[in-house]
Amino acid sequence: MKQINKTDDFTIIEVASGVYAVITEFMLAHGYCNSAIIDLGDKCLVFDTLGHPKTAKQLIQEAHELTGQKIVYLINSHWHWDHVWGNQSFEHAIFSTIKTREVMQDNQQEQLDSFKTSLPHYLEHGREQLEEGINGDSLFGFPYDTTEHFKRHLQSIQYLNDGLDDIDLRLPDFTFETRMQIWGSTRHVELRAFHGLHSASDLIMYIPDVKVLVGGDLVVSDILPFAYGEQPLKYAAIFKQLQAMEIEHIIPGHGTVADPEVLSILQNYWELCHAAAKQAAQADDLESYLSTLKRPQNIPARFQGTDKTFQAAVRRFATYGILSNE
Ligand SMILES: [Zn+2]
Repeated sequence: MKQINKTDDFTIIEVASGVYAVITEFMLAHGYCNSAIIDLGDKCLVFDTLGHPKTAKQLIQEAHELTGQKIVYLINSHWHWDHVWGNQSFEHAIFSTIKTREVMQDNQQEQLDSFKTSLPHYLEHGREQLEEGINGDSLFGFPYDTTEHFKRHLQSIQYLNDGLDDIDLRLPDFTFETRMQIWGSTRHVELRAFHGLHSASDLIMYIPDVKVLVGGDLVVSDILPFAYGEQPLKYAAIFKQLQAMEIEHIIPGHGTVADPEVLSILQNYWELCHAAAKQAAQADDLESYLSTLKRPQNIPARFQGTDKTFQAAVRRFATYGILSNE
């Protein structure tokens, strides 16, 4: 693996020959998720957009330069804004699952409108906190422990806010249900969907010839995973399956390029969420039980997130009735 480029917004790492990870610092720059660029021999493929039309343009430029390919296909791993709001910058085909396209069609405009209303308030409140010497929480509840990080986060959200009027929502051109392969002249990739976990539908991408997994938001590293969906054991089962695959490197949806060991760490995290949620669901007082929970000690400290992050995950799973699903 070698780092081949670093801009203010992302770092590019060549994970294997012709396979590039585009890594952003989570919510601290002008790119909001990670992407991957894959040289297929006669065209190239980009997985996720970095979440902003201008940053996506830089990403496309990098894809042309790194691979020498003119045609750039795009995969939308799932519908969340931080992965798809660069779609309009892509000239060629965009692929997603049927479900992702449906949810994008139904929800994106509403989300864009709600950001137009909510981000100015978030920024105003954040600036007040900064003036008072408080490091506030990020837009997604992760607390910042340095003023520098909180300041950079506010700049990152300001950039997003300033560009909202220029966002022109573009939907995928080609859709599929659960599996698809995309072939080029020198390699192919395999896309596989999981439904009802992190979002309505989430894609992972496997590149067999170099044993690289591109995880979307199902596989994150260096932050505690987002707890959406209802069943932590469903996540754990998927992570068990993924460990049976031949994988050398993982490009996660957020966080740095990871070794396959991240899969067992995440499996463990979801199992711990399940055990705690089961206890929480039986507790007389949910909130007082939750307040006693500490983030699991066997999840490495490099995974950003606090006791509160873990408590929020457990609250969600306890509240959505995991017991009824057993
Ligand atoms: Zn997501």
